[in-house]
Amino acid sequence: MSEALAETSAIMNTYNRFPLKIVRGKGSYVWADNDAKYLDYTSGIATCNLGHVPELVQTKVKDQLDLLWHCSNLYDIPAQQELAQLLVDNSCFDKAFFCNSGAEANEAAIKIAKKYAKDHGNEERVEIITFTDSFHGRTGTTMAATAQAKIHQGFTPLTPGFRYLSLNNPDVLEIIDNGKTTAVLLELVQGEGGVNPVDIAWIKQLETICKQHDILLMVDEIQTGIARTGSLFAYEQFGIEPDVMTLAKGLGSGIAIGAMVVKETVAASFQPGTHGSTFGGNPIAMTAGLATLETILEAGFLANVRRKSEWLISSLKKLQMSYSSIEEIRGIGLLIGVQMTEDAGSWIAKFREKGILVLSAGSNVIRILPPLTTTNEELEQFITVFQELLIENESKNEDKL
Ligand SMILES: *Cc1c(COP(=O)(O)O)cnc(C)c1O
Repeated sequence: MSEALAETSAIMNTYNRFPLKIVRGKGSYVWADNDAKYLDYTSGIATCNLGHVPELVQTKVKDQLDLLWHCSNLYDIPAQQELAQLLVDNSCFDKAFFCNSGAEANEAAIKIAKKYAKDHGNEERVEIITFTDSFHGRTGTTMAATAQAKIHQGFTPLTPGFRYLSLNNPDVLEIIDNGKTTAVLLELVQGEGGVNPVDIAWIKQLETICKQHDILLMVDEIQTGIARTGSLFAYEQFGIEPDVMTLAKGLGSGIAIGAMVVKETVAASFQPGTHGSTFGGNPIAMTAGLATLETILEAGFLANVRRKSEWLISSLKKLQMSYSSIEEIRGIGLLIGVQMTEDAGSWIAKFREKGILVLSAGSNVIRILPPLTTTNEELEQFITVFQELLIENESKNEDKL
């Protein structure tokens, strides 16, 4: 929202809203109230992974709307059983807990890690390790888990029990176990923090240390999960088997949903009365989740994502070779960061003027999150526009000389 609008709006001013009123979406595109059409390479922040209003999800949710919306977790919800089964059948995990958002999924992970230590006679293990530039949510506890000073500012005292270490740093491996650690929580590619992938050799060593000391390895796949990185879950590409994984964003194709999936041994730490959620696992969200996974698990879907990713990353690398405004290309699958030499904000505005929506991340990073269903033509359009902007930028810089 522009500053003037922010002052007159009845909505609290918690987001710097772009001056765009989006009223409709289909596939890779959204339309503003003035009918202007935009190629949406934000996917509602890695949420509309199948594009906007994907048909199978739309049909199944419409059918479910005619049957039942809510009945509480005091009853057996068939779609919830099915979605849990589908998640465990397609991962290294054994049990699922459903909630409504990413932060809520991480809250569940943080709670179960504390309980797990106590259940295993490790009363003194109360700390959870997280990493610099991480993002785990905005609730009191997930904000404390997020190791970014700017997110903590003004909100002290923070929930205690988190220890922050630097990502990919071999030196921190020696201090993971200090006798007080119950879990490590991390993103395998930091999303908000700047599209920073974890080093494979490092995370494998981290996993070994965790196993040695009965420390839980918990991956926050809220942004990387649901095929965003070209495999159903990112951990598959890192050669690790985490104990806990949290999901949200892409799982419901835009219908609010969250999930924590865990290994059998961890699951035993939650029993009736230890955790819950009124809306978690409701029939509408579960139906959206099922239809989303059904689509992604179709033969060829993931291979297609990887093929598009390879094309996009190599095309971006070609641009990087020709234009000095691009410093680095990072990311996996279709979670891609382009590190620029200057503030990403002005680039994002320039893309918008050319009818393409992209995001920022960390500092100076353009974050590109195409729908996983984006077409080759759309990808080509994106690269063509990026090149035009880079050329315009160079000629502008030459004018200055
Ligand atoms: C978006 C995000 C969250 C928070 O999810 P909400 O649904 O906004 O609570 C947590 N972790 C990661 C990695 C995210 O990208």
